[in-house]
Amino acid sequence: MCNKISGNVNSIEISGIRKFYNKIANYPEAISLTLGQPDFDVPLKIKNQIIEAVNLNKTTYTSNAGIIELREEICRYLSSFNIKYNSEEVCLTVGGSEALMDVFMCFLNPGDKVLIPDPAYPAYESCVKLIGADIACYELEDDFSINFEALEKLIENEKPKLMVVSYPSNPTGAVLSKDESIKLHNIIKKNDIIVISDEIYSSLCFNENYYSISQFDDIKHKVILVSGFSKMFSMTGLRLGFICAEKQYMESIIKVHQYNVSCAPSIVQWGAFVGLRECMGDVEFMRNEFIKRRDYLYSELKDLGFEMQMPQGAFYMFPSIRKFNMSSDEFCEKLLKEAGVAVVPGSAFGKAGEGYIRISYAYSMEQLEESVNRIKKFIKSF
Ligand code: PMP
Repeated sequence: MCNKISGNVNSIEISGIRKFYNKIANYPEAISLTLGQPDFDVPLKIKNQIIEAVNLNKTTYTSNAGIIELREEICRYLSSFNIKYNSEEVCLTVGGSEALMDVFMCFLNPGDKVLIPDPAYPAYESCVKLIGADIACYELEDDFSINFEALEKLIENEKPKLMVVSYPSNPTGAVLSKDESIKLHNIIKKNDIIVISDEIYSSLCFNENYYSISQFDDIKHKVILVSGFSKMFSMTGLRLGFICAEKQYMESIIKVHQYNVSCAPSIVQWGAFVGLRECMGDVEFMRNEFIKRRDYLYSELKDLGFEMQMPQGAFYMFPSIRKFNMSSDEFCEKLLKEAGVAVVPGSAFGKAGEGYIRISYAYSMEQLEESVNRIKKFIKSF
């Protein structure tokens, strides 16, 4: 470890997802079910709008917060889920990733504590550590819902400044139920805590109704919404996300955002504007395809004896591999070497992820079918 590098940077590692993805390069025949990159093309109208924006020279900086047209469209979109913000309360960012980092930087001093779920998307822990703040993990039940009793105790003991809530969940596919949203609301209301609600997969909730902590008006001053278009419009490489927060916070968030990136990519902002207006049919199509893939994978893996929860959103399945008496790292290594299927060890998502593997079904049905055939043979070899 180089001692010229900052202690905060030395305290983190490259994500376990990427580490495993990089290993696949040594197995050219392997099928990778590792990444959260949908296999759909960006909707045509979005592509055309981006091209048009280039041709019209809409290639300059935008305002720091982003173009008003898109911010207004986001407010309209969110209001259809009963989430109420005005355009002054929205800031466009370079993906959900920048949104998360901006919010952490805006609120945290070194030594502050942040509650994150375990297992969780690995960036939460790393972003917090980069700032020199500390994390405490909150427990999830076997079905990946929150253990509310344990959460209340943790808040009492650790006195965290922030808490991250992430639904639909990467890696578990769990969503927030109505009952859980009410319980969480009560806890947030009672305690001096700010919640970052990462809802980047909200367009991929498979249930009829969507529940989120950002729907409660009376705790709006305690909730920061982080979201984006990477998953919604299958445009992970185009890098567009957003933050919604009350004005009292937004002014400070924009300061951080300004010095990080100035503004989100201008032409992509125009693309997402048309996306929200005209491409929701494409989003519905992708959602239905993910439901078909989930149903297929779930039933095949159940038949093979895997124990798991039925994912209700996002595009990940998180089966237990405990019965194979191997660590999740060993299992994934063996599955890659012997069967040519790459999935991510659950340990990449935190201590509680040990004993699980994350399978991304953001891949074509053909790839999923071939992977299932390979996993079948692999399981029979035990
Ligand atoms: N939050 C979660 C839960 C994610 O899974 C991801 C990306 N995989 C992000 C945020 C970051 O999204 P983006 O690619 O838009 O930066």
